[in-house]
Amino acid sequence: MSPDPAQTDAFRTPIVAVLGHVDHGKTSLLDKIRGSAVIEGESGAITQHIGATAVPLDVVSKIAGDLVDPEEFDLPGLLFIDTPGHHAFTTLRARGGALADIAILVVDVTDGFQPQTHEAVSILQDSETPFVVAANKVDTIPGWNPSPDAPIRASYEAQSDRVRGDLDERLYEIIGDLSDAGFSADFYWRVKNFRQNVGVIPVSAETGEGIPDLLAVLMGLSQRYMGEEMEVDISGPGAGTVLEVTEERGFGSTLDVILYDGTIEEGDEIVVGGTQGPIVTTVRALLQPRDLAEIRTEKRFEQVESVSAAMGLKIAAPDLKEALSGAPVRVVGDRETEAVVEAVQEELAEVAVSTEEE
Ligand code: GDP
Repeated sequence: MSPDPAQTDAFRTPIVAVLGHVDHGKTSLLDKIRGSAVIEGESGAITQHIGATAVPLDVVSKIAGDLVDPEEFDLPGLLFIDTPGHHAFTTLRARGGALADIAILVVDVTDGFQPQTHEAVSILQDSETPFVVAANKVDTIPGWNPSPDAPIRASYEAQSDRVRGDLDERLYEIIGDLSDAGFSADFYWRVKNFRQNVGVIPVSAETGEGIPDLLAVLMGLSQRYMGEEMEVDISGPGAGTVLEVTEERGFGSTLDVILYDGTIEEGDEIVVGGTQGPIVTTVRALLQPRDLAEIRTEKRFEQVESVSAAMGLKIAAPDLKEALSGAPVRVVGDRETEAVVEAVQEELAEVAVSTEEE
């Protein structure tokens, strides 16, 4: 199988992470995005990857309506890492930086900045990851008049003066906390350059208000300010990060991986970071989850010959028992195996350091 036609252009899907304080709505927000995508796109709207969910551009633009004109974008869509939170973000690295290209910082609009919000901001700052703030749970503001799934501007204008004033006050508090952390932030519709200023987007994971705006800003941020970083040679040797090492019946130890660069194929020689150092092995099978509807009746995974970035997948290969989550996976391709082993060794030293820091 050749790479997915949607992926053969030079741009890969930006990888999005979700961070924020416990109970501020990270999981609900991801669920809402997935749910909206399924409703808007009917079948094939989202692709459930291993460890991640892909929302293609046409579905993003259906959810976002006028806010996203698909003609303006070269990026194939957005890939959301399914595990929200700081641990996943800090352990999932790519070539020394964060695996995620961009992040959503979720802040409960009535609860404001909390300890893990501060922690998330400094993690994003240290890793230089561009982010937007989803000021979540706007529907809990007393007197809020919901407009389900609507863009937030319309919904915001439709509130009474008192309710809008109440929301403004809470948003300014969040903007103030961001400013104390060294970020200039504003209501997203006033932000001109999302790389210099953090956009704050009022949303509700409950009613879906603001989800169109959130997706539009994520697309805009990736395309306009990170276009060059999103441009990859998809035909190059695959590079990814191990999410997890799991046992699968019939396959033995397998790796759940997010591939962020290049292509990996069945039979490729790969180098994987392990507890005892780099492991050199050969890909026996590449697996992707079947559609939800098929899972009940058939085997859980579908075998594919080739996968291109960005995508989540499962790799079956001999000798993976000692592989390490957070470690690099590299296709050797036409390079010297020894050179790739050395590169993996170097990156492993960093993984060890970041794990000790936890
Ligand atoms: P997480 O710990 O950050 O992943 O937070 P969850 O997604 O588990 O949400 C924590 C609680 O807040 C759950 O009971 C959610 O139903 C609720 N919640 C999340 N988002 C919203 C929202 O936008 N509005 C309301 N009313 N409740 C929300």
